[in-house]
Amino acid sequence: MTGEQENPDSDPLRIERQCAELGLKMTGQRRVIARVLSESDDHPDVEMLHARASEIDSGISIATVYRTVRLFEESGILTRHEFGDGRARYEEVSEEHHDHLIDIDTGDVIEFQNEAIEKLQEEVAKQLGYRLVDHRLELYAVRADKKKD
Ligand SMILES: [Zn+2]
Repeated sequence: MTGEQENPDSDPLRIERQCAELGLKMTGQRRVIARVLSESDDHPDVEMLHARASEIDSGISIATVYRTVRLFEESGILTRHEFGDGRARYEEVSEEHHDHLIDIDTGDVIEFQNEAIEKLQEEVAKQLGYRLVDHRLELYAVRADKKKD
């Protein structure tokens, strides 16, 4: 997967505003990283974020990107995923819940919502004597029209 994926609906200053609300100190480089994250509609890892941030400010080191995403994660702005390849990927915490399907051939990550699955998970927890408070679901898949070899 290459190239920059931008969400046309994204507000480039969204994360920066959240940082301000949380009282995080914002350096110029943090602002750049916040903007890149706000504009990313995929699930970038630190290397991808570094490549995107470097296009805006070539002085940003990968260590700075690491520290900044960790800070944002600890502050509840970002959530971290690992989609089976051992790389940490990040996305903004959103109000709306979604799960992920990972194409194991291309690494593409597709977001989906499914009411039946949501209900079923609640039922499973209930049957086990629990009340569900959160879950993560990752489907690893190959395209159905892929030829078997
Ligand atoms: Zn997602």
